[in-house]
Amino acid sequence: MTTFSDLGLSASTTDAVQQLGFEQPMPIQEQAIPILLGNHTDIVALAQTGTGKTAAFGLPLVERIEHSLNLPQALILAPTRELCIQITKDIKDFSRTRQQINTLAVYGGSSINKQIKALNRGVQIIAATPGRLLDLLRRGKIDTSAISTIVLDEADELLNMGFQQDLNAIFDTLPKHYNTWLFSATMPNSVANIAKRYMNNPKKITVGTKNAGADNVSHQYLTVHPQDRYTALKRLIDFHPDMYAIIFCRTRRNTRNIAEKLMGDGYTADAIHGDLSQSQRDHVMGKFRNKTIRLMVATDVASRGIDVNDLTHVINYELPDDLESYTHRSGRTGRAGKSGVSIGIAKHKEKGKIRKLEKTIKQKFEYIDVPTATDVRKKQLGEWTDNVMNADTSAIDDIMPAIKQGFEGMNQDEIIAKLVAYAWNKKSNTEQSKPAQSASQPQNIKNGSEPGFERFFINVGRKDDLNPGSLIALINESCRTGDINIGKIDIMGSFSFFEADMNFTDKILSGFQNHGNYRGRGVNVEIAKPK
Ligand code: AMP
Repeated sequence: MTTFSDLGLSASTTDAVQQLGFEQPMPIQEQAIPILLGNHTDIVALAQTGTGKTAAFGLPLVERIEHSLNLPQALILAPTRELCIQITKDIKDFSRTRQQINTLAVYGGSSINKQIKALNRGVQIIAATPGRLLDLLRRGKIDTSAISTIVLDEADELLNMGFQQDLNAIFDTLPKHYNTWLFSATMPNSVANIAKRYMNNPKKITVGTKNAGADNVSHQYLTVHPQDRYTALKRLIDFHPDMYAIIFCRTRRNTRNIAEKLMGDGYTADAIHGDLSQSQRDHVMGKFRNKTIRLMVATDVASRGIDVNDLTHVINYELPDDLESYTHRSGRTGRAGKSGVSIGIAKHKEKGKIRKLEKTIKQKFEYIDVPTATDVRKKQLGEWTDNVMNADTSAIDDIMPAIKQGFEGMNQDEIIAKLVAYAWNKKSNTEQSKPAQSASQPQNIKNGSEPGFERFFINVGRKDDLNPGSLIALINESCRTGDINIGKIDIMGSFSFFEADMNFTDKILSGFQNHGNYRGRGVNVEIAKPK
């Protein structure tokens, strides 16, 4: 097993790494660190986000800083403010066992005067977004005389985001006595051109396959009519109760809309996009990081630099226009050795795009069905049952006799049914989950039901102790199936309404006619009259 000290790092850096809990170098570190600690050289390293590349350049950088010289010695260029801040924090962590290295993040959208003041106090490493760095260089606020290393982090993103001209200007401004370390997840021509134009015989290293998606991300897709996207999204979320995910949309507007809809439907979600001020973005990111919200709806640009390690899913609410964005989106999960799933919600006619993506990431997409309401219900009730089985009952031992009395006269099946129905009703009331709607079917004008659904009248209601859980059980029993999508349920005093998938109308009517029986009493179901 290779250790960090085998790579040539000093004892103090090895200590720092140990304190961070890094037991063994990651592949990119194993390859890059010995090169960067050795002779002064340029390097092009291809590695996905989340593969440990910050330490791959950060650890050698920490070793190279001359402590007695309080001048900028390294510039790290990164595409977003978040990434600059993260890098600065990582560098501080890597150098925690030695004399402090003055590290500063500079980025646009924040007071330049404050940044100038911080620069004047003396810094040794600067992590910067290109626009702001150029501005500071042009104002003569950065002493470039001692700069010996330039790091381009997420170079493909830098170029994707339109920083090409700024980068050219930065390279043209700096005195030519530095090495360039370029890190990129992919190698489009624009990145290759930068390497050709500004780098000197760079050493090349690749971790994983070129342009390939991270190995521990599996890719799935489902197809929907565009009108059904949102319902499909909700089903996916409901089907994975522990989901901690970024949901990608293509536009700011959609990002905002989807987040608002999710919040309206009771999910812990929020949006991050370019219309937000920096402090608003920080606020959302903070909530996401500490898991106050578990779903973050984001545009591609706003999500760059987000480095949350334990995302379970990335959801492509809309597939991205360019294939490389997909690599970046999906690379937000499956980080730091953990596994993750990237799901694409595609239109039927986008299957060709899926095939192209498969070629880009060199992995197959698995086709999955949109989970049905029954799938979701089964899963949620299954989890509920597990939780019930694992519940610690010691705290209620003393009141058990009284509780038993409350359930007296009921057999085991009845008690279970009551408990499940109670839990289910509470859940449905808070989540208000609606059924999937078929894109092709128009609104049922006749009785106001949802598109694709028929509205039924049934002659039992609250007075008969009917509740949504027992009604669903009754429908399934009477129709001898568990596959019917049940929609809105209105329980009234002595009767009720329910909506169900139109395709099952005959089955429901004949099912109740032949087997409809509630507590020993025949029940009558018919299509609801106009409202
Ligand atoms: P990065 O690709 O630099 O964003 O790193 C991804 C994550 O992996 C970060 O949370 C790092 O703290 C973590 N990490 C980096 N190197 C190691 C290592 N050798 N062992 C364990 N975790 C690491």
